[in-house]
Amino acid sequence: MSRFLIERLRPLEEYVPGEQPRDKKYVKLNTNESPYPPSPSVIAAINAESAADLRLYSDPTGLRLKKALAGYYGVGAENVFVCNGSDEALSFFFAAFCGTDVPINCPEISYGFYPVFAQYYGTPYNAVPMEDDLSVDHRRFLGVKGHIMIANPNAPTGIALSPDEIKEILESDPDRLVCVDEAYVDFGAQTALPLLADHPNLVVVRTYSKSRSMAGARLGFAFAAPEIIADLEKIKYSTNPYNVNRLTQSAGEAALLDGEYYRENCRAIIRDREFTVSELKKLGGVLTPSTANFIFVRFPGKDGGEIYHALKERGVLVRHFGLERIKDYLRITIGTREECAVLIAELKNILGGKNE
Ligand SMILES: *Cc1c(COP(=O)(O)O)cnc(C)c1O
Repeated sequence: MSRFLIERLRPLEEYVPGEQPRDKKYVKLNTNESPYPPSPSVIAAINAESAADLRLYSDPTGLRLKKALAGYYGVGAENVFVCNGSDEALSFFFAAFCGTDVPINCPEISYGFYPVFAQYYGTPYNAVPMEDDLSVDHRRFLGVKGHIMIANPNAPTGIALSPDEIKEILESDPDRLVCVDEAYVDFGAQTALPLLADHPNLVVVRTYSKSRSMAGARLGFAFAAPEIIADLEKIKYSTNPYNVNRLTQSAGEAALLDGEYYRENCRAIIRDREFTVSELKKLGGVLTPSTANFIFVRFPGKDGGEIYHALKERGVLVRHFGLERIKDYLRITIGTREECAVLIAELKNILGGKNE
């Protein structure tokens, strides 16, 4: 830290992304990326882009991409916001609607970025307690003061609320915004998007990073009422109007031509999740019911950190969080069937091969 960093930012504890190691080749199951490449149309669209055109700015309105998303999801283009990864939509949500003025309410254990944004923007943060089984009881959100941000399915548990439960939260107070972060919704949960028509206090945030295999392209989007979208645009035009680069805008549009390719990938990931869950149960694993492209598992009597390190030594990278309540859990991304098989084989070695 330099002596120039302003006072307000000195205590800020920044978000720590999952490792992207370069030292050796891992079976990489730590950051919820897709094990599959982007679809043929995406690769064709990127190849068709002229590098020479990179001298030109990208379209700051993102209109072609917005229209394509609107058509694909059955909403109006004025209901769509596009951004540099969904983290940017979340950040702009805090900037536009919370600031230091309006508190944010999030599940006690959820996406680690939420409390970081709150700290960065000076937003009062309320961690809403979770149940013993790490599920979220939506009724705990009905009386809270301020806006709400929920990952659905939640991270790192993978547990999802139903649209009816989201609806009840939305209707408990129409003067509060409910931001539903649907980064993992394509892996088996139900989207809140159909609620948008009747609930102008809903913001649905999506990403190309997980189910559409484009984490490195940085593309996110959000759906909301037109005046909410206009407020997000206001923040964008006040900070970084060209937030989505040319290649990514083209790729994002092209991906929508290959819906079936991505749905098939999601089906494969769901199948491999079910396979992995049943194998881990045979090894004594206790899991939360995940509808995401990752699972959350602990082995009673075993230390989560130790298993994490043992797996890493054997070339399998998973995610371990230091938070007291979940310190014995591992969050494991579902890779290809072969990668899942390597994980299971290494866990068998580490745990002694038997269910005690
Ligand atoms: C991965 C993830 C995001 C961020 O995705 P990007 O679009 O890559 O910025 C947002 N929310 C949750 C819950 C995530 O897990």
